[in-house]
Amino acid sequence: NHAPLFAKTRGDVAVSFEFFPPKTDAMAETLWRSIETLAPLKPRFVSVTYGAGGSTRERTHATVSRIVRETELTPAAHLTCVGASRDEIDEVARSYWQAGVRHIVALRGDPPEPGTPYAPHPDGYATAADLVAGLKKVADFDISVAAYPETHPEADCPDSDLENLIRKIDAGADRAITQFFFSADNFFRFRDKLAARRPDVELVPGILPVTNVATARRFAGQCGAAIPDWMDGVFEGLDELPAARQLVAATIAGELCGQLYAGGVRHFHFYTLNRAELAFAICHLLGVRG
Ligand code: FAD
Repeated sequence: NHAPLFAKTRGDVAVSFEFFPPKTDAMAETLWRSIETLAPLKPRFVSVTYGAGGSTRERTHATVSRIVRETELTPAAHLTCVGASRDEIDEVARSYWQAGVRHIVALRGDPPEPGTPYAPHPDGYATAADLVAGLKKVADFDISVAAYPETHPEADCPDSDLENLIRKIDAGADRAITQFFFSADNFFRFRDKLAARRPDVELVPGILPVTNVATARRFAGQCGAAIPDWMDGVFEGLDELPAARQLVAATIAGELCGQLYAGGVRHFHFYTLNRAELAFAICHLLGVRG
């Protein structure tokens, strides 16, 4: 039916939030304010990314450790294969386990220089599936992996990308979190193909509320996500109007979440970019309250 999202939800939505490790004190303050705003929504987990090329290993660890020390939240630490040997990565994983971190988001990662081809470390894990298998030997982690409803840009074809996701699941992943997307139909098609092969695995949509199409297009170009043509039109003329852009961003993401909810999705993962407002507002529309 055509009732708006907030008339349909039944208090049955779970959420999770993704953050990146802050570089400066001012960025750290923004992050912690955002975490304080979002914590009452009781996310299933909050994840902390690992910079391209493994560049934020210490900062990711420090952010995750602070979440463990200072909040009741369940942290998920991202870990990639880039620029480190298997022994080094296993050591990072062990130190997470010892610190009480039980959830890892296991990724291959991208080369430190954007646009250059990916080359595995000579003694490293070559792919995310290898990493998942390695992590499972270190400890019985809860593991999330990446999925691409619109196909990873390096994949030969959608089917081979799906086979790769299935390898990650068979290696021990518990759920897949998707790259951001703006077509609910593309998500559902991908979900159905995955469900036909691995019916029990959770596929969690990654939601990116977009406030700036040019920035989103840049991200999307690197990760194989499609930006629909209508989005340029919707943001046209709003360059100097940040408040209007926030409203438009919440409306677009809220509508996508409504379509996903109507199609049975009950867990939403938000790419927050360390800002709470949009994710908080969309959660509110989804009936998620503190
Ligand atoms: P993989 O699953 O290993 O796949 C990489 C590519 O290789 C795919 O095209 C796959 O189809 C292909 N492939 C793999 N194995 C085979 C095989 N045996 N035969 C043929 N083809 C194969 N990046 C970061 O640097 N830090 C982060 O914190 C981070 N967080 C992310 C979180 C989410 C939810 C998502 C969706 C992405 C994230 N990324 C992050 C980006 C990710 O690292 C890149 O998209 C990367 O290019 C691929 O990582 P992957 O884990 O999907 O790799």
